[in-house]
Amino acid sequence: MSNKEKLLEVKNLKKHFPVGRNLSLKAVDGVDFDIYKGETLGLVGESGCGKSTTGRTIIRLYNATDGSVKFANKEITGKKSKKELKELNRRMQMIFQDPYASLNPRMTVKDIIAEGIDIHDLAKSSKERNERVYELLETVGLNREHANRYPHEFSGGQRQRIGIARALAVEPDFIIADEPISALDVSIQAQVVNLLQELQQEHGLTYLFIAHDLSMVKHISDRVGVMYLGNMAELAPSDELYDNPLHPYTQALLSAIPVPDPEIERTRERIILEGDVPSPIDPPSGCRFRTRCPMAMEICAKVRPKWHEAREGHWVACHLHNEEANETKED
Ligand code: SF4
Repeated sequence: MSNKEKLLEVKNLKKHFPVGRNLSLKAVDGVDFDIYKGETLGLVGESGCGKSTTGRTIIRLYNATDGSVKFANKEITGKKSKKELKELNRRMQMIFQDPYASLNPRMTVKDIIAEGIDIHDLAKSSKERNERVYELLETVGLNREHANRYPHEFSGGQRQRIGIARALAVEPDFIIADEPISALDVSIQAQVVNLLQELQQEHGLTYLFIAHDLSMVKHISDRVGVMYLGNMAELAPSDELYDNPLHPYTQALLSAIPVPDPEIERTRERIILEGDVPSPIDPPSGCRFRTRCPMAMEICAKVRPKWHEAREGHWVACHLHNEEANETKED
């Protein structure tokens, strides 16, 4: 991937939410990663690990507390002009977990999909606007008869298709899909994943695909990042991460995925993590994972492990794989 063009560069991104006097919830606490043009980066972790906040901070639904996000080589955090925000809003779109909550129940499907077309003046006449909506409905596997209906008249899978059509309407380059299939029936999940993959091929889209478990992102992602308590634990090409996980947290997550072969499933070793995820208001010193890590050492409480490339394209933050780089961020 290193010779590919970067579309997004995230450096030391932080999003802290104030909670009472002198306290803050460190939802995202210094993450670094790049996304290359045309790829899908999967981002996984348990609920509360900061993956959705990372996506929402990138797309500016939240203001970053610190750090940098560059999109197409331009810094996009901080104050921007109306024109710049409008352009960003066209080029970066988001698909949400709950398609129903994200679709205005009082608007017809046509008006929901056409909202972005209107804002960005992408149709010269109402005829062209209608044609564009019909075309988008067909692109996502619905049909033009659906245009004058309301969101409640559709199933969950169809509503997610409407959400995808709405995102596509402005011809974006980059889509953040925030758990887009978690709320759908298992039988529908594969259809929506397939649709997203087809659209990626046809439109050259780049995705950040956020999900809570590793098995869900394996199929769709070129690379996968694993987050824990506001930090990135590991990031690698999908096959490399699944075949050769370096971080004890990734190893535990992978060991929890059932194997289809009953014989292997019966004998396979599972790593059971003790305890709960600590509070992001008062996270552990040093390595955020140390209170649950079966491999924790003395240094893990004192020094935050450096985020570094342990092998080509395989990034990890863990002292077990960190021979020469322990001089980093002290807590
Ligand atoms: Fe475990 Fe230490 Fe590695 Fe953290 S740095 S994952 S506590 S071994």
